[in-house]
Amino acid sequence: MTITSFQPPQRVLMGPGPSDVSERVLQAMARPTVGHLDPSFIGMMDEVKALLQYVFQTKNELTFAVSAPGSAGMECCFANLVECGDKVIVCQNGVFGGRMKENVERCGATAIMVEDSWGSAVDPQKLEEALKAHPDAGLVAFVHAETSTGAQSDAKTLVELAHKYDCLTIVDAVTSLAGTPLKVDEWDIDAIYSGSQKCLSAPPGLSPVSFSERAAEKIRNRKSRVQSWFLDLNLVMGYWGGEGKRAYHHTAPVNCLYGLHESLVMVQEEGLENSWARHQHNHMALRQGLEQMGIGFLVSEQDRLPQLNTVYIPDGVDDAEVRTRLLTEFDLEIGAGLGGLAGKVWRIGLMGHASNQKNIDYCLNSLKAVL
Ligand SMILES: *Cc1c(COP(=O)(O)O)cnc(C)c1O
Repeated sequence: MTITSFQPPQRVLMGPGPSDVSERVLQAMARPTVGHLDPSFIGMMDEVKALLQYVFQTKNELTFAVSAPGSAGMECCFANLVECGDKVIVCQNGVFGGRMKENVERCGATAIMVEDSWGSAVDPQKLEEALKAHPDAGLVAFVHAETSTGAQSDAKTLVELAHKYDCLTIVDAVTSLAGTPLKVDEWDIDAIYSGSQKCLSAPPGLSPVSFSERAAEKIRNRKSRVQSWFLDLNLVMGYWGGEGKRAYHHTAPVNCLYGLHESLVMVQEEGLENSWARHQHNHMALRQGLEQMGIGFLVSEQDRLPQLNTVYIPDGVDDAEVRTRLLTEFDLEIGAGLGGLAGKVWRIGLMGHASNQKNIDYCLNSLKAVL
């Protein structure tokens, strides 16, 4: 058998990520590969840093993209900020809070869980009770935009509470970045990670991260070495950091970074606030169409994410059959429910480049045809 070039189908990606990648970003990625220490490439890395500072709304020097998907950004935050024997408060209201717990435990630390039901925001009152009950905790971690449920938590309030009790904060912004208001400096977030393939609409494979001076200080003063060589910020920063010479650490995914750079330029052209407003506007349009079909939302109105719409599957409808037909007959991908929500909900993404009126109409019409 002769294997020939792979030709992927042209899909419309309206699931929980990856989202549709624009022609502009795809073309940027097809440009010639240069050496990762080529002066031209180093200049581009500096621009990626500046653009990430813009989308994160931060002046943090320690801002760059980890060379791996969002999960690696998560691991990077925990591996650097958590030491053996530490106590970390983890707020969980969906799948990704559970992964934070895994990370804490694998660092040899204890996770104190603050649980909220799937589909609700993290309850600040429960967090404060946990902070009072565990004065020896040094860190609070939570997910800003829970992609498994479509719920948004009040990051500003949760960070304020953590600081009131002298804890640093790790925030998961994989789905929130560029899709919903997020202000790292104004909200005083210490460590944050995101992903390239959600509301930035670049292909998967990179994880933007940012660390405050407070977090950097904590990392510099660790008692033990970071257990992960690849994610040790003390080493990575010799590669991404500061002026002058770059020390070889690993080979950056050169063309993938061209794609992230282009997607960030596009966010800058649109304006971050306009991007947030577009996501909100398109969410309202999709919501109206779904409600006209009698389809309702899992999350209460005030906690809903505009970029990830979790809706109940109508009674008597076969979940898998509908999603398969959408994919095979309409080239349309929507997301299934996870965990306890499997078979009960669909997750319809309106992320980044995929958040537009044409996709909303296409999704509503395809769903009508299949149902
Ligand atoms: C997608 C996602 C992740 C994981 O990102 P990957 O790029 O799939 O590794 C983490 N947290 C949240 C909230 C996500 O939506």
